[in-house]
Amino acid sequence: MSRTAYVNGAYVPTRDALVHINDRGFQFADGVYEGIGVRRGNMVDLEAHLDRLWRSLGELSITAPMDRGPLRVVLSEVIRRNLFSDAFLYIQITRGVASRDHAIPTVDIPASLIVTCKRLNFDGVKNRALAGVTGSTQPDIRWGRCDVKSTGLLPNILAKQAARKTGAFEAILFDSDGYITEGSSTNVWVVTEGGDLITRPTTDNILAGITRARVKTITEKLKISVKEAKISIEDAKKAQEIFLTSATSCATPIIVLDGQKIGDGTVGPVAKRLIDAYFQFTDA
Ligand code: PMP
Repeated sequence: MSRTAYVNGAYVPTRDALVHINDRGFQFADGVYEGIGVRRGNMVDLEAHLDRLWRSLGELSITAPMDRGPLRVVLSEVIRRNLFSDAFLYIQITRGVASRDHAIPTVDIPASLIVTCKRLNFDGVKNRALAGVTGSTQPDIRWGRCDVKSTGLLPNILAKQAARKTGAFEAILFDSDGYITEGSSTNVWVVTEGGDLITRPTTDNILAGITRARVKTITEKLKISVKEAKISIEDAKKAQEIFLTSATSCATPIIVLDGQKIGDGTVGPVAKRLIDAYFQFTDA
């Protein structure tokens, strides 16, 4: 059975879904995106994802192709037509189609909207989190506006690929001063040698993860204090725990970084509590 995508007003079989070669998303990565987890038919943290999407659009002065209400309907319809229960929903909005020119068109062009969906095994995500994954540090060669969820993901892809070549699951990016920024598609949290749970402030050129915000809310409920601070790779390697958050990884521990065990090389107690609490939230 072919999957169904939504492309500029129509639900189409994914194999027939096409965008114009002069779409500015294709020509310049002049677009933004969101990725939303779907657990048992529910879009996880949908409103927070839509808030961030509208913020990203505003930062690039792209006019939303439709209001939030109709967009919610399109998203639900894509999930329904694909008959998915657990899935990953992908929304891409580009500035639209115009004759190729770096300058942003002076006339209003309609933004392009593409929604696709693929099956995501959330039980597998939970099992992977409970087993932990490996990381590889990579220089953060991305731009200075990583707060915008831009589709310009080539630096992220190169970093992930370099990490995968070392056998690691995720690339842990570091800035020119040797401080961790975030993962190539995740936010990074550390339980330091001294036992503090820290994560980099979102004001410091990283993406404000929706899962990061959700996990922060969960820590408040569990009365686990969180500090927003930078951490160097050197200190992270001495940490008790490191874990990643994202819509497709809940709170997944890095148990080995650059071949070196983190803590005792197993999933730590803080991550374990957060994984349990996260799935209590999604499955409620
Ligand atoms: N940082 C980057 C660079 C990302 O690409 C992502 C996920 N797309 C995240 C963090 C995590 O964000 P979220 O929790 O909203 O999935």
